[in-house]
Amino acid sequence: MQTTDRIVNADEILKDLPRINGVVPMYVDGNWRLAAEGDRRELDNPANGRVIATVAEGTAADAEAAILAARRAFDEGPWGSMSAADRAALLFKLADAIDAHRDEFMRIETLNNGKPLRETEYDAVDAANCFRYYAGLATKPHGQTFDVPAPSQTFTVREPIGVCGQIIPWNYPLLMATWKLAPALAAGNVCVLKPSELTPLSAIRLATLFEQFEFPPGVVNIVLGAGATVGHAIAASTLVDKVAFTGGTKTGRSIMTDATTNLKKISLELGGKSPNVVFADANFDTAVDYALFGIFANAGQVCSAGSRLIVERSLHDRFLERLVERTKKIRVGNGFDPQTEMGPIISSVHRERVEDYIGTGRAEGAKLLCGGGRLGGALADGNFIAPTIFDDTSPSMRIVQEEIFGPVLVVQTFENEAQAIALANDTIYGLAGAVFTQDIAKAHRVIRKMRAGITWINTYHPTYNEAPWGGYKQSGIGRELGTYGYDAYTEVKQINVNLDVEPSGWFSG
Ligand code: NDP
Repeated sequence: MQTTDRIVNADEILKDLPRINGVVPMYVDGNWRLAAEGDRRELDNPANGRVIATVAEGTAADAEAAILAARRAFDEGPWGSMSAADRAALLFKLADAIDAHRDEFMRIETLNNGKPLRETEYDAVDAANCFRYYAGLATKPHGQTFDVPAPSQTFTVREPIGVCGQIIPWNYPLLMATWKLAPALAAGNVCVLKPSELTPLSAIRLATLFEQFEFPPGVVNIVLGAGATVGHAIAASTLVDKVAFTGGTKTGRSIMTDATTNLKKISLELGGKSPNVVFADANFDTAVDYALFGIFANAGQVCSAGSRLIVERSLHDRFLERLVERTKKIRVGNGFDPQTEMGPIISSVHRERVEDYIGTGRAEGAKLLCGGGRLGGALADGNFIAPTIFDDTSPSMRIVQEEIFGPVLVVQTFENEAQAIALANDTIYGLAGAVFTQDIAKAHRVIRKMRAGITWINTYHPTYNEAPWGGYKQSGIGRELGTYGYDAYTEVKQINVNLDVEPSGWFSG
């Protein structure tokens, strides 16, 4: 830890972030500004509790200023008349700039979120590629023509929805900002983005690039502040045409209610309790490896985490023995330490929430195989939780049904294929799921029965900018990424052309 602390100099890592009177400001209407009511918030490094920066803490007034700026930019600004090719050119530049500053983005993200550098490197690479993907898509044809009866010609065009409110969580701050901004901007919308109050720094660094490349004022606004104030103001505003949200299912429900003020379009990417089904005939080492990766990547703070291991009874003992052995070897620590494989939980509040769930698991009678609580010693100042596995669970337990969003795996056991499918589908969620087997027909049968939007066969977690992302059931509404994600930021207009310009003669008078 001492070595790591010496190499982590927050001021140095954050030196290119804008400051007003020492406070990191928000970006509204092409300007940097402090909160209208002057509030500010200190951000902690989740790995050691030390303050890393002070940021502006906005209120509804700041959200309203940003929404008005966005409204003007959409209704009156140059953005709407800019060609798709020009928008694409800006987004390509942005992608290249993220690549050029990759190391800085990685370090900002590791400092603010805690996740290891090897994860933030992946996020930074993916963020640049996501902007590049949507820059490419901006200029592709998106309409259809229809063979309707003469003398009409009918076709569709896709048009931007308008002002898009975008509310994102703390688990992938840069990547979630990108998943929201890239398709929206490519399609010609304007954005009011609210990062999590805990992790706004990479979004603010991103805003410096929007400024550098002279995106017109008001096209991208980054408002800082809490969900209950700024987030709520965005979701409820009648000047906002669409709200896109990633976060917890409970918050998603409240955003959906807020959105009824003007029946705005909504995209919700919510929680999960995703099943990872392992049959006895799976490639053993591969299945163990991905079971670990599925739950302990990003300390389990992943919406699509494979948080329920559903393993065939005949394989159970051997599989768990190996899984526990490997889990105990996971190197937990400061994300800046190159040896670290798993970082801290985002905040003390969330760490306590995860600890409560571990307590609940014990109280419910599940068998704790490893982990089971907060790590002390050199890690005592941070929000570190040992990778935890519970066995001997029953489907009704809260730890089996509820999203813990931490490094806690629950194990369920099945006797046959039908039971595996029934267990896999037995939660309110339907975000993701995987199956491990070398029987390809069985793999397809099980995946097709799984009520989930993102599925994997013999792997876990790979995510592609090209392919749709989103959930069934209470895991969300709509899809992000791919052409689906682009379409979600467009309205479809039907255009009918009369090729025989004569009166219809319907009325005789
Ligand atoms: P939230 O869902 O509360 O936070 C996600 C985003 O929504 C943040 O920007 C938050 O702002 C904002 N927000 C919060 N309340 C409102 C509101 N009423 N109106 C508008 N925006 C709002 O997640 P938490 O951080 O509280 O975590 C709670 C649980 O949600 C976790 O334990 C986990 O189960 C789940 N979760 C799921 C995620 C996913 O990717 N599916 C991501 C994060 C959490 P702010 O943080 O500034 O308050």
